[in-house]
Amino acid sequence: METSPDRQCHSEGYMAAYQHFATQAIHTGQEPEQWSSMAVVPPISLSTTFKQNAPGEYTGYEYSRSGNPTRNCLEKAVAALDGAKYCLAYASGLAATLNVAHLLKSGDQIICTSDVYGGTNRYFNKIASEMGLKIAFADCSDLKCLEAAITSDTKLVWIETPTNPTLTVIDIQGCADIVHKHKDVILAVDNTFMSAYFQRPLSLGADICMYSATKYMNGHTDVVMGLVSVNCDKLYERLKFLQNALGAIPSPFDCYLLNRGLKTLHLRMKQHFKNALEAARFLEKDPRVEKVIFPGLPTHPQYELTRRQCTGVPGMITFYIKGDLEHAKIFLKTLKLFVLAESLGGYESLAEHPAIMTHASVPEDMRATLNISDTLIRLSIGLEDIEDIIDDLDQALRAAQYPRAGHLSPRPITKKRKLRHCKG
Ligand SMILES: *Cc1c(COP(=O)(O)O)cnc(C)c1O
Repeated sequence: METSPDRQCHSEGYMAAYQHFATQAIHTGQEPEQWSSMAVVPPISLSTTFKQNAPGEYTGYEYSRSGNPTRNCLEKAVAALDGAKYCLAYASGLAATLNVAHLLKSGDQIICTSDVYGGTNRYFNKIASEMGLKIAFADCSDLKCLEAAITSDTKLVWIETPTNPTLTVIDIQGCADIVHKHKDVILAVDNTFMSAYFQRPLSLGADICMYSATKYMNGHTDVVMGLVSVNCDKLYERLKFLQNALGAIPSPFDCYLLNRGLKTLHLRMKQHFKNALEAARFLEKDPRVEKVIFPGLPTHPQYELTRRQCTGVPGMITFYIKGDLEHAKIFLKTLKLFVLAESLGGYESLAEHPAIMTHASVPEDMRATLNISDTLIRLSIGLEDIEDIIDDLDQALRAAQYPRAGHLSPRPITKKRKLRHCKG
């Protein structure tokens, strides 16, 4: 397959970055004037209750589940970053998904793209379906497939792009056009992998932009939280009601941490992109690797679509190692800098085995259709020095290639690597 020259700079050819993103991440919702103390950093407001002037007469807050000053600052900042009117924060990404599902009633159908986060699959398949919601899985990367799946019961179409773990990119605008041909059907996009910095589902026609903020949005691997952004007033009112009524809200301390994480989102995402592109190029050239999936490589089937709907690509790389399960296990156990752990999107590099770890909750036959095989490895490329990231991948591939000799084996295949650096 033809690959374009490696010299190409990493963000060239993508949608232009969203204007004022960094300024909004740093200032929106953070106005010191909102506090009598004029605090520049939003305080962590721990009070569970707020004084009323007379019964029922309160000045913005009454009880911390229904509204909290620290959470409010965070929700305003995220709304701005999503180009949205509103944002709501939840105790986790799955709590956000649960709240969105509660927009539906018994008998309604959810169409979920086939390749989603394992926990989303489990929630729809094993819990929502038991509560009277009908669940259908369809490959939404094929728009005809989505169109054919919609019935008069369909009320929600749930997509994730790029998908997890096989990084298929779905045409959000294309899905929105099909979904909105039908009255009262909502399109929700799980934007966790892209983050607000690289993709704005609402501006591409989606009704709901959802995150596991646990990943890139927070970026520091120390908060579990979920977010939902919307533009529609009616949708917001209902979700705001559910946020309070279902009660899966985040703590003020977590809101403070996530709000702080957002301040460097633009810087982190640019570096994740740069590092991941170099790592993906290294893996793609390596004979010990069967196949690399990274939407920022010209060999990715939706490379052009990615550049059309995103401003860049995050640090997620999936690849098939040559050999079998044993090779994959040795590779993962030999990594030194990469931490063998679930999750993604933090400043540290992580590696994992989807079939055994994150996607164990996906039924086996479904894993097979999705090509989540024993040799599939998922990497979350962090913000370390790229030379160290690549050295670590190299030594672990070497160990996996000579299972018995381990690290002591010679390196007959690898040629001396030359790292390319691109400016800007
Ligand atoms: C982690 C993740 C979720 C679930 O979020 P939690 O914060 O763990 O509840 C949902 N979607 C994607 C794509 C994820 O990676």
